[in-house]
Amino acid sequence: MEPILDVQDLQVSFRVRGGEVQAVRGVSFQVGKGEAVAIVGESGCGKSVTAQTIMRLIPSPPSIIKGGEVRFLGQDLLKKSEKEMQRIRGKDIGMIFQDPMTSLNPTMTIGRQIAEGLIKHQNMSAKAADSRAVEMLQLVGIPNPESRIKQYPHEFSGGMRQRAMIAIALACNPALLIADEPTTALDVTIQAQILRLMKDLQKNLGTSIILITHDLGVVADMCDKVIVMYAGKVVEAGTKWEIFKNPQHPYTRGLLRSVPRLDQRKDEPLIPIFGTPPDLIKPPAGCGFCARCDDAMRICAERDPGTTTISDSHQVRCWLTHPLAKEVAQ
Ligand code: SF4
Ligand code: MG
Repeated sequence: MEPILDVQDLQVSFRVRGGEVQAVRGVSFQVGKGEAVAIVGESGCGKSVTAQTIMRLIPSPPSIIKGGEVRFLGQDLLKKSEKEMQRIRGKDIGMIFQDPMTSLNPTMTIGRQIAEGLIKHQNMSAKAADSRAVEMLQLVGIPNPESRIKQYPHEFSGGMRQRAMIAIALACNPALLIADEPTTALDVTIQAQILRLMKDLQKNLGTSIILITHDLGVVADMCDKVIVMYAGKVVEAGTKWEIFKNPQHPYTRGLLRSVPRLDQRKDEPLIPIFGTPPDLIKPPAGCGFCARCDDAMRICAERDPGTTTISDSHQVRCWLTHPLAKEVAQ
């Protein structure tokens, strides 16, 4: 099956004082129709930059797209004009951010904000758009939607705002929904509800989802595929089961031990991954995780291992799983 999104060898840098931060260093992945893909990793690993580059939301300068392709339904988004991107963002790709207040308009009612995209991108009449707004609020589980559409964002609770933002993002029935840490600001119960909601919508509407999170625990329930990023590269990618039951990269294993899960008890200890990610102004020549890895060998600091295929769906970037592992360990 043709993927709806095909990211190939994406490279993005930022100009800063003292050089260029190589934030995304050759990232490739695909998202199939109706598939939910999680991109996981610590802050600064390049996951948000990847998402914002797909949406063409990072300003250039300071960001520079150094190379690669972002093919969405067969077209390269990196070659689109800002005007074409505005249409695509309003209609074909929805986005949900961590803090709904940054993307909700505080001076406009929730109903207007849902209706706006429908009027603009789907040529709906104001009346039809209003009733669709009510439907959307109902769909995302907001009670009394008829009166709620007349309210402003500040009259909604945090969880409600996040639901409203999902309603806005899904109103035009986009083929792809990108959610960047959509539940980080919410408490655990609401977090679980919102993720459940996104999962139901994905199932019922056939929307593909990219869920970006630093927390492997939250993807367990809702994603089909997991992409683990570290220091601007994909270090492991696989189905949810491959990543949870058979993690191969030491960083993935560390993440699984270090992040709280939804079902975690408060008194259960987490084992942090010690150390900090490398400076991406001068990225390391070898494996980016080398300085923090308990299994590091000499070759790890010298050469990037490249990608090893474990199965059709499971790839790892680590010398331990490299076909020459036995030889390089000597
Ligand atoms: Fe550790 Fe080497 Fe694998 Fe990097 S390549 S994760 S340093 S074993
Ligand atoms: Mg981020």
